[in-house]
Amino acid sequence: MRDYNTKQKQLVIGFFEENRDRDFTVAEVAECLSGKVGFSSVYRITASLSAQGRLKKSFREEGDKAAVYRYFDPDACSGHLHLKCEECGALTHLSEKDTMEIEKIIGSGFTLKSDKTTLYGVCQNCVKRND
Ligand SMILES: [Zn+2]
Ligand SMILES: [Zn+2]
Repeated sequence: MRDYNTKQKQLVIGFFEENRDRDFTVAEVAECLSGKVGFSSVYRITASLSAQGRLKKSFREEGDKAAVYRYFDPDACSGHLHLKCEECGALTHLSEKDTMEIEKIIGSGFTLKSDKTTLYGVCQNCVKRND
């Protein structure tokens, strides 16, 4: 059973990798992989890949219900700071605006290399789980 799940996961990540410059909703991925990976599996797999920082989640338009996902290459991500959860590995990308605020607080005496800087801590989900 476990191998089967891994194979589905590879199909999903492979799909995103092949279309790395495009955004997809779970429904769109499920349609492209129909007959290979079912909707609920695509849903579960994209959620876990997104939590691991391997997919970038966003919305096409403000107020949209369905999120879109895109392949994420951590080496190509620059211009902002990252927050990483030590428990589940979730990666949060700070906006460039927030990154600039933090650089401002640090001041002019020190140039922060935001591309190389990751702040480690515990994410909201894991804090709740530990309660
Ligand atoms: Zn976490
Ligand atoms: Zn980033």
